[in-house]
Amino acid sequence: MARVAYTRPSITEVEVKLVEDAARTGWGAKCYDYIHRFEAEFAAYVGTEFAIATSSCTGAMEMGLAGLGVGPGDEVILADTNWIATVAPVMHLGATPVFVDILPDSWCLDPDHVAAAITRRTKAIIATHLYGNLCDMDALGALAESHGLALIEDAAEALGARWQGAHAGSMGTFGTFSFHGTKTLTTGEGGMFVTNDTALFDRVTTLSNHGRDRAQDKQFWADVVGYKFKMSNIQAALGCGQLSRIDTLTARKHAILSAYKARLLRLDGVSMNPEPTNTRNGAWMPTAVFDARLGLTRERLQEAFDAADVDARVFFYPLSEQPMFEPCDTPLSHDICTRAINLPSYHDMTDEDIDRVCCVVENLHGRAT
Ligand SMILES: *Cc1c(COP(=O)(O)O)cnc(C)c1O
Repeated sequence: MARVAYTRPSITEVEVKLVEDAARTGWGAKCYDYIHRFEAEFAAYVGTEFAIATSSCTGAMEMGLAGLGVGPGDEVILADTNWIATVAPVMHLGATPVFVDILPDSWCLDPDHVAAAITRRTKAIIATHLYGNLCDMDALGALAESHGLALIEDAAEALGARWQGAHAGSMGTFGTFSFHGTKTLTTGEGGMFVTNDTALFDRVTTLSNHGRDRAQDKQFWADVVGYKFKMSNIQAALGCGQLSRIDTLTARKHAILSAYKARLLRLDGVSMNPEPTNTRNGAWMPTAVFDARLGLTRERLQEAFDAADVDARVFFYPLSEQPMFEPCDTPLSHDICTRAINLPSYHDMTDEDIDRVCCVVENLHGRAT
């Protein structure tokens, strides 16, 4: 039996043909064709006015924050449970991250803690839709609105997730996506910045083009110091192929999560990615959290999965536990990750693979109770 991988992209002839075409013909006057097509099709899919393809989600986040003028003296509120890529751009811009605790069921930032963390220096809230679970966009939207803050969605893990019909990433001041090889849609490396704000789109377009204004007709002339976080035309061709299959890709992710939930939620003391009424979970990373009384620690889980030849991943450590940051009082962020595990969920995994993963959990659980 082969090892069960935790993620693996689904690449078909559709993608291969487009990439081949880009490699053969996408040069000279056509060197941006796939990029522009991918941006337009992506914006249409998530339902935003504008999209800018980038070399990564991290780059999209940094340009978006820079476009909002976030810098030294500004505070940005985000969940302590997060990938480092969400906070790195805040640090690079010289702003101060403020970590808040998460909700016990969605593992996303808790709006009450966000409210308590707002000061007169607060400039933005970053809502990371963790593992495809949705943040409480109603509560966060109301807070952002009443305090005049930007609400940013890190939707890297939530492509295809919907909150009352609206796509994750399309509801805030701007949204960012990742197309890293582990994500639901991949371009190898890559990302997307999306917004409905025309002025912000213009500023980020300039930043993303070495600081050259679109209206500037002088050649080799920059108007501001910008960035070079562009996606290549070849990557965009891959993205177009993936996007043409987006409903298949997201449906499969969702079906895998549902299969795990049907099996594992029968076990006492196990919870998984929630899907409240009127939402659709993006199902990027099916995650099982075990009640503390079961004694199923991260280390025991890792050991059991490894012994069964299954790749499982640990739940994100709190950012504040890492050496670059000050410790902070976020008990749930510190606790949940010690008794949770991310389960494999790649497109082509079989029912037998899912069964193998479930058996590991069931055996551990059986011995714990
Ligand atoms: C993957 C990921 C990122 C970073 O994406 P890159 O494309 O690798 O920059 C950012 N935020 C979250 C929540 C992610 O999961």
